[in-house]
Amino acid sequence: MDLLLSVGRVLSSPKDDPILDCAILIRDKIITAIGPRSDVAALASPDAARLNYLSSTALPGLINAHVHLAFDAGPDPITTLASSDDDSLLTGMATRARYLLQAGVTTTRDLGDVGGLAARLRDEINAGRQHGPRILAATIPLTIPGGHCHFLGGEVDGENEIRAMVRRNASRGADLIKVMASGGQFTPTGPAMWESQFSAAELCAAVDEAHRLGLPVAAHAHGTDAIATAVAAGVDTIEHCTWLTEGFRSDPREDIATQIVARGIFVCIGLGPGWRAFAERLGPERAETMFNRLRWMRDQGIRLIIGTDAGLPGSAFNDFVSALELYEYVGFNRSQILEMATTGAANALGLSGRTGRLAIGYDADLIVVDGDPVAELNALRKLQMTVARGRTSFFNPNR
Ligand SMILES: [Zn+2]
Repeated sequence: MDLLLSVGRVLSSPKDDPILDCAILIRDKIITAIGPRSDVAALASPDAARLNYLSSTALPGLINAHVHLAFDAGPDPITTLASSDDDSLLTGMATRARYLLQAGVTTTRDLGDVGGLAARLRDEINAGRQHGPRILAATIPLTIPGGHCHFLGGEVDGENEIRAMVRRNASRGADLIKVMASGGQFTPTGPAMWESQFSAAELCAAVDEAHRLGLPVAAHAHGTDAIATAVAAGVDTIEHCTWLTEGFRSDPREDIATQIVARGIFVCIGLGPGWRAFAERLGPERAETMFNRLRWMRDQGIRLIIGTDAGLPGSAFNDFVSALELYEYVGFNRSQILEMATTGAANALGLSGRTGRLAIGYDADLIVVDGDPVAELNALRKLQMTVARGRTSFFNPNR
């Protein structure tokens, strides 16, 4: 059935001028018309569902490019995960996927689960049996024995095992491959955050095998060495990109940044809604270093996308706006931030042409909010409805 959505203002993409007094016609999950209200209304079938949000703004659905649906965002997600069977875990993941919709997120990238469950949930959503955002699933992240997130089951030793695990993930239905190029905060028993986990040859093997299968590669890399190796290996996105060297010292390198830009690699720093508390824990000096790194990457021309690492302690699935506010705090303009979270992210994830903007032929992924998010990001908290590939969810903006 047709859905005719009339809105006061449409941002077809965050960098375009808004279109006023607009209507959007959705048919078979696709945007089939968008433009002046009366013109579009004339194209709708007589029995079309009609929704009016005449004082609201419609914009592309948001893209949270880094989540872990298998983690529950509680104080100890690993223990909770370990004590869950597949069925209860999948039920929890489905709930958390719906929380993403409550934050206006219509596309997400799951960067590490157990057993390929995020791919199973993706298939349930795609088949219409569950309601949730479009999921790109990395399934099980590759790590070294005892390395970062080893408890997810992705331990590999040497190039042969790396290639075999990439193929196994592909057969589990992975949309991309995640590789833990450095240690991580979440696994204190593994290598330090600034230490590399894989050799250059091993990362090249992972990328080669993944690309051979048509799968992009996301590399978790905090250390400058790991970033350099991942860039040289030809990964598609770098997660965190913290530019650390021994002792948590900051070591951003212009030559590597130049390569990131030249190779068209996107960076997702993955700081969640709790970034203010995190900055407080770091103390003023290290926090400022972190903020400056972000400004520096922007000034180097690195294309950033936004993910929250949702599922980790304190990183709730239903709050994306607080994470976007980090970029406003460090000086990005709001159109740019919204672009990073929609059109830019769609490009990074290989989805341009399908989502990330409101245009004829695109999937009907959009949100309707009270107010104007270009004037204040807080408008995104006044979410009225989310449309995820044509399927609607309604929210009380005064909740
Ligand atoms: Zn992560």
